[in-house]
Amino acid sequence: MTPEQKRALWREYWRKCAWHTAENERLQVLGVPSHKLPRFPPFPDELRGMTCGAWTRAGTSCKRKDLYTSGRCKLHGGLSTGPKTPEGKAKSALNSNPTEGEKTACDTDPMRGSEKLTF
Ligand SMILES: [Zn+2]
Repeated sequence: MTPEQKRALWREYWRKCAWHTAENERLQVLGVPSHKLPRFPPFPDELRGMTCGAWTRAGTSCKRKDLYTSGRCKLHGGLSTGPKTPEGKAKSALNSNPTEGEKTACDTDPMRGSEKLTF
């Protein structure tokens, strides 16, 4: 089995597990006892000990075994790449700090807030 086939099987396995998790939560809300919930698929033996396999800057393949559902480690594609949709980007922009151009005079005024202390 090639590394690409292993990674595809890895992603398929975790996709099935995500479906089972959602299905189990749905059935638990309906009152299905836990021993009657569908069982998770067994972990494929060929995936045991699977490594990230991404090319490192040193020119070797990555040997990390702590992989995300993408089949890569946290250094090689496991983390979020940020918002993609315009709605997600707008939400993200609300959480960020204002840039210098966006700051108002009130924000940059060093005497701000001290007015309340004068009597
Ligand atoms: Zn890696």
